[in-house]
Amino acid sequence: MGETFKAIVIDEVDGKHKGTLTDLTLSDLPDEAVLVDVSHSTVNYKDGLAVSGKGKIARSLPMVGGIDLAGSIAETSAGEWRAGERVLVNGFGMSEKYWGGYSQKARVKPEWLVRIPDAFSNEQAMAIGTAGYTAMLCVLAIEDHGTKPSDGPVLVTGASGGVGSTAVMLLSALGYEVVAASGRSDENEAFLKGLGASRLISREELARDAKPLEAESWAAVVDSVGDAVLATALAQTKYEGIVAACGLAGGAGLKTTVMPFILRGVTLRGVDSVMASQQRRQRAWDRLAELVDANKLAEIYSVEPMDRIPQLAEDIVAGKIRGRVVIDLNG
Ligand code: NDP
Repeated sequence: MGETFKAIVIDEVDGKHKGTLTDLTLSDLPDEAVLVDVSHSTVNYKDGLAVSGKGKIARSLPMVGGIDLAGSIAETSAGEWRAGERVLVNGFGMSEKYWGGYSQKARVKPEWLVRIPDAFSNEQAMAIGTAGYTAMLCVLAIEDHGTKPSDGPVLVTGASGGVGSTAVMLLSALGYEVVAASGRSDENEAFLKGLGASRLISREELARDAKPLEAESWAAVVDSVGDAVLATALAQTKYEGIVAACGLAGGAGLKTTVMPFILRGVTLRGVDSVMASQQRRQRAWDRLAELVDANKLAEIYSVEPMDRIPQLAEDIVAGKIRGRVVIDLNG
């Protein structure tokens, strides 16, 4: 038997999925072209569901958890990559269809890899993680639409969450006037203003039945909430503005009318991080390297060792975690 390493392996225990710290060997890993020495991963809501068994995320068992990973290439048979390069993977069905990042060694497909920009350590790249990279995809959608800071305020919903808080930070770094909508606006006012929000509005102002058209308020919107909040945001978007919709923290529904589209030329742009192309991912990560303020980033994450993942999974599903959690796989 070869040398062992640690992984969180999800399997069925008493009829439920459950992740436990397990020893694996290289021969246990799937047969993919790139072997990565994984240094860091993260705990996202989806990881919480997968590892705690509160949701059936893994489609086959046993499954290594973790939707993100960062590390260095140990071996590769893919020509465009070299041993020693620092890389990350977000999404692509890791922990769902493919073994994920909660493993000190992982074999992955070369087309999933993104080079970690020099500006970031592996830990910082995972502090940004899937949430921050999704926020960047939303900001790219707004920029690609041609929206400029002089066009007016940009609304960010679910602002104290992982996607929302990074969107606030990025948009403010780009010079946009950012209005943060939050269900915890009193509690999180200092936090969101520290990230660059110019003012806050309460979630209740948006989570209601909207009129087909309301006062034109937002040049653009980053929405991680969906449902009534998204419908109200659409009704308040300015002429030829854009709404980048990436989440469903408030629900998957969308009851709206065609009025914002046919009378104001509003664009509703869906944003998906999981299957985004490698080129789009690299573009997003390179922009993140330009825009993320390391001091602000340091305020929004904590680092935990691998053996804490099962408890952290329970905590995130119970809503007990604030900010981002980075896992140090050698900690
Ligand atoms: P978080 O749980 O960190 O944040 C979500 C935020 O939404 C919360 O902090 C809260 O912010 C707000 N919120 C929570 N519950 C409700 C509710 N019932 N009604 C309205 N607002 C609510 O999640 P993430 O930021 O990581 O992800 C946000 C969403 O984006 C999720 O739905 C996630 O699945 C999705 N997502 C999609 C991706 C994609 O590829 N499209 C990738 C990553 C995430 P506040 O207290 O400030 O109101």
